[in-house]
This record gives sequence, C-alpha cells and structure tokens, in this order.
Amino acid sequence: METPAPPGPCRGHWKGNGITDLRISITHRCNYKCVYCRTGNEGALYGDLPFADYLRMARVLTGLGIQKVRITGGEPLLRKGVVDFVRELAKLRTTSGEDLDIALTTNGHLLADMAQPLKDAGLRRVTVSMDAVDPERFARITRVPDGYDNVLAGIRVSGRVGLWPVKVNCVLMRGFNEDQIIPFGMFAREEGVVVRFIEFMPLEEDRVWSPNTVVTLDEILRRMGEYRLLVEIPHARSETARRYRFEDGIGEIGIIAPVSHPFCGHCSRIRITSDGKIRTCLYGAYRGIGFGRQLSVVVIRTPGKARLQSCHNGFSCSQNSRIVFAFGVGVRQRLAGKGTTSVVPQER
Ligand code: SAM
Repeated sequence: METPAPPGPCRGHWKGNGITDLRISITHRCNYKCVYCRTGNEGALYGDLPFADYLRMARVLTGLGIQKVRITGGEPLLRKGVVDFVRELAKLRTTSGEDLDIALTTNGHLLADMAQPLKDAGLRRVTVSMDAVDPERFARITRVPDGYDNVLAGIRVSGRVGLWPVKVNCVLMRGFNEDQIIPFGMFAREEGVVVRFIEFMPLEEDRVWSPNTVVTLDEILRRMGEYRLLVEIPHARSETARRYRFEDGIGEIGIIAPVSHPFCGHCSRIRITSDGKIRTCLYGAYRGIGFGRQLSVVVIRTPGKARLQSCHNGFSCSQNSRIVFAFGVGVRQRLAGKGTTSVVPQER
C-alpha cells in the first residue's frame, strides 16, 4: 500500500475521468446493526433532508454530467416517500437528453413489498447487501433475528418484477464469513443473481478492521476455483467490480477489491450524504488512510458548459479535496477539511 503524499494545493492535472455516477444517501438510519458498520454500532449519526433538497442537488449535478444515480443510506427503504422520490428522479434527463440510470442499494429487509412500486416509479436495478447465505450466520452479522427470509424474498421478487440484473453484495471479513465464498457461488448459480464480493474497507468503523480481516481478491478467486473454474469477463474501466462467470456459463460473480487492487484512478463517483454534504471518496473521512491516488472533483467551466471532472493529483483527498461549484453566476469554492464539502447549489 502506498503512503499518502503530503498535503498541498492541487496543481491541476484536470485530466481524470468525468464524474458520471451520483450516490445519494437519503437517511443515515438503518434497521440492521451490522457488526462492521458504524451506523450499526452507534445508530444514525446524521440527519435527513427533505426529498426536495436531494432532488434539487441531483438536478444540478445531472446538468453537470451525471448519468447514473444510486439511492443508498443507511437503509433507504426506511424512508417514507422513497417511491415518490424515485418517480421525481426519473423525470430528470442527462445532458444528452437520456433517462437517468436509477439504482438502489438496500439490505433487502423491506424489499419484497416495495420492489414492484419502485420498478413502476422508474427504478431500473437493485443491489441487495447480504453477507451470508446461512440464516444463523446472517443474524449474527446483522444482529437482527429472522431477517434472512425477508431478504431472500426481496431478492426473488426484485428479479420477478424486472429490477435486473439483481446484484447481491457480500462484504467478506475474516473470522465472520470467509467460509461463505463457495456457498455464495452456488447461490449465484441457483438464484440467477450476480454475487459481488467486496473487500472489507477501513471506513468510519475502525474498531473491527485490520489488514488481517481483509479477504482479498486473490484469496476469493483461489477459494472459488476449488469449487468451479472461473473465466474473467472484460469490464469497463470505470466499473469497480472485476467480473467472472463460471466455466459452464451458469452464474456470474464480481469482486470489488478497493484494498488489494485500488481503483481510485478511474473512479467516476460523487456522493451526497443524508445531511447534504458532498463527498468525493468513501475513504475521505478516514484519517491517515494511505490507499494511493484519490480524487478531487472540480467543475470545469467553459462558457456555457460545466462538467464534473476528477483530478488525479496524487494527494489524499481527505487532505486536499477541492471542489469548485460554478452554477450560473454563482461560484462556490471551498477547501474541504475531511473530504467533505457543503454544497448549496444555486440554480438559475
Ligand atoms: N443499508 C443499505 C445496504 O445494506 O445495502 C445501504 C447502505 S450500506 C452502508 C452499503 C453497502 O456498503 C453494503 O453493501 C455494505 O455491506 C457495504 N459496506 C459497509 N461498510 C463496509 C466496509 N467497511 N467495507 C466494505 N463494504 C462496506
């Protein structure tokens, strides 16, 4: 792992990727208490905004090049009005006049009843987080009894109503669920879902994480290879997951490896937190992190045109996140202290 470069002003190598993916956290509350999650341990730490505010920010950012919006949390399905929010988001258009690609990440607990209304409102895809395919283990990780059946039902209904492809995200942690790799391979094949393993990242909850708890991409491939041979599927540069199908063509898995194979250099994301902050990077709030190159985000403004653009300057964004917002005549510029910057978009 690289050591972070010293802080300093961005000298402007504005040649990174366009920022095309927006994540909006619509609540910090969650109905699960996952052992590795800060919200799970401490409850909601940040407030919510009215949906109109997220929508206003989404509208401004869509005008700056956003093409995909993912709704997340906390647990987004806890928030009353989420279906109407999707319906309003679905009215936005990209700068080239196309529909937004709207997706949602959920723990799936409430999904079975909501999948059809969400689909009808304009949701295209869903990702369900599920860290074990064994009900008891699942309960130990989420610290909620009897959730497994609800989540499984949510996954199945989502597939039936066409929230496709259904992706199932599993964070692997040594000592908790690394023995679930092969069962998840079987699950992907049997349920017709894309299972994506995520390396455990040192985010805000730093009590559980240590390098030893990370089950790496190489280890996942080795373990899954003992079950069946995998063939890598070519993936887009901006895709975070490396994709594999089983040799017989049945079942797909993905591996997201931000720890052992960081992909900061081609990240195309920006985030709005539930309390309305812009975050450029998940790692941004973690002190002293040294995972190599990270992003700054700027709005490049040429007359009449503005775009969100990443900037690879080699500095850690927690020290050096610089965001310039240029909306019409109003320009806001702040240097972020911890990878977050308030944004109050001014619309014409
Ligand atoms: N409640 C929703 C859910 O469960 O999907 C959305 C929020 S949850 C924080 C989003 C995803 O981040 C989940 O798949 C979760 O497992 C993952 N996640 C949380 N902490 C993580 C960590 N330290 N490393 C890797 N993934 C993490």
